[in-house]
Amino acid sequence: MVDSDGDWRWNRLHDHLPHQILLRLAAIQRPNVTFSSDSVGWGLQEDRKFSVKSAYQFRRGQTASLGMTDPIWKVIHHYRGLQRIKMFLWLVYSGKIMTNDERKRRHFTSDNMCSICSAQVEDVDHVLRQCTVAKLIWSVLIKPERLGEFFTLPFQRWLGMNLSQQGDFARVRMDWDLTFSAVLWNI
Ligand SMILES: [Zn+2]
Repeated sequence: MVDSDGDWRWNRLHDHLPHQILLRLAAIQRPNVTFSSDSVGWGLQEDRKFSVKSAYQFRRGQTASLGMTDPIWKVIHHYRGLQRIKMFLWLVYSGKIMTNDERKRRHFTSDNMCSICSAQVEDVDHVLRQCTVAKLIWSVLIKPERLGEFFTLPFQRWLGMNLSQQGDFARVRMDWDLTFSAVLWNI
């Protein structure tokens, strides 16, 4: 693929490779016989030797960048309230709250109905927003004209909007993220 002068043999490459690949080839260093031969190595270290530290840092970096693409993840990440409530928010967000629906899914029980209102499947949305008790509490805190939207938003969006400090739904906007999360924690 390289001629005696060390240049890419463009006349051959043109016939076999798409334009984007040719552009990339033009931008990279050509193979040279004086280079050492290829070998397997760990790409995250300069000496190409594997280390747990570099793998861990890579993983952490990857997780953080994934989080940046997810607004709700980011909102919880920057939550300014108590650590235990923040942990609870992570569980809510990831659907790990032990509701009757979750217990049934894990075969701990055969009954996934709500023990309070007996009306619906007791999933995390039901417990924190749709159950009669939760509805009663939210109805006191949310502006009457926004109640319809508050109770029908997709659950994850509902969580993110209320934790993002905007307080659009609240009768009292100040510190709504803290009020909202404290109510979730106590329901
Ligand atoms: Zn209920």
